[in-house]
Amino acid sequence: MKSGRYSRHELFLPIGKEGQKRLGEKHVLIIGAGALGTGNAEIMTRAGVGKITIVDRDYVEWSNLQRQQLYGEAEAINRMPKAAAAEQKLRAMNSQIEINGLIMDVMPDEITKLTEDVDLIMDSTDNFDIRMMINDISQKREIPWVYGACVGSYGLSYAIRPGITPCLSCLLETVPMGGATCDTAGIIAPTVQMVISYQSAEALKLLVGAEEALSGKLVSFDLWTNQHTAVRVDAVKKQDCLSCGDDRTYPYLSVSNLSRTAVMCGRDTVQIRPPVQVERDLPQLAETLAQHGGKVERNPYLVSFAFDHRRMVIFQDGRVLVHGTKDVTEARSLYHRYLG
Ligand SMILES: [Zn+2]
Repeated sequence: MKSGRYSRHELFLPIGKEGQKRLGEKHVLIIGAGALGTGNAEIMTRAGVGKITIVDRDYVEWSNLQRQQLYGEAEAINRMPKAAAAEQKLRAMNSQIEINGLIMDVMPDEITKLTEDVDLIMDSTDNFDIRMMINDISQKREIPWVYGACVGSYGLSYAIRPGITPCLSCLLETVPMGGATCDTAGIIAPTVQMVISYQSAEALKLLVGAEEALSGKLVSFDLWTNQHTAVRVDAVKKQDCLSCGDDRTYPYLSVSNLSRTAVMCGRDTVQIRPPVQVERDLPQLAETLAQHGGKVERNPYLVSFAFDHRRMVIFQDGRVLVHGTKDVTEARSLYHRYLG
């Protein structure tokens, strides 16, 4: 251990030497390596959390650089998968902890495996299905998780503890969570930073065992209209909730409730998952696609194929992003034309 690395945590009485030791023994799973994920991951990494797993299905684009703090121009030019780029940057910040960046789409099977030895989950996704999956697995495995969301100048955060607080499913019926996403309504970076601060402060409290210090409230704010609220939501816990109630079924851990094809909100992009998991031979795929004309580019993680105002990005695990369309039928037909 480098001398003094965590001295400011140790001097901070609510953490102290004991709390710092606990942080070093914990495993945090961060789902999403976008705006919230990069910020949360940087704080957990610098804080000395013993093991960090960060998962993401996308790659870095120019529109990310305004707020996704671990990425620079090189990552956008090279279309680096976010999970791989984040892992590299985080390792450079702290070589004394274990950091794993995983390029994958989180589905029920994946989240079940990912959470085997996890102490805390940090929600850093912008996707409703994945968030509800986090909610279900957290209840099933009794792992606390910290919800966070932001759009425009508006942000929300809440720490969910199985058996103690209401879950996200309980909250959704009574609390307006907003339908807009940052792809349609835009976002300013301070909103992201504020949500990260709320999420990571609650995360540190949970990790060092300072439950009495938790806010216990759903916090929300609008930095542009200068509104801040914190609401007690204990009363919304529902006995008949399918995720945390007496007869729970964990609906979002059932694959049949999720589709193979997803329109990525506001992005003119459709994601297609292959019917069965395949490992793509990327160099060979690049050669085959080049024979169709169009522009083919490749890095170790993905192949990009641009043609007729459309672009397809194919990942090693067989997932494909079709850019330039929101039309699922068109995206599927392009998929079948070029990728079989
Ligand atoms: Zn519930």
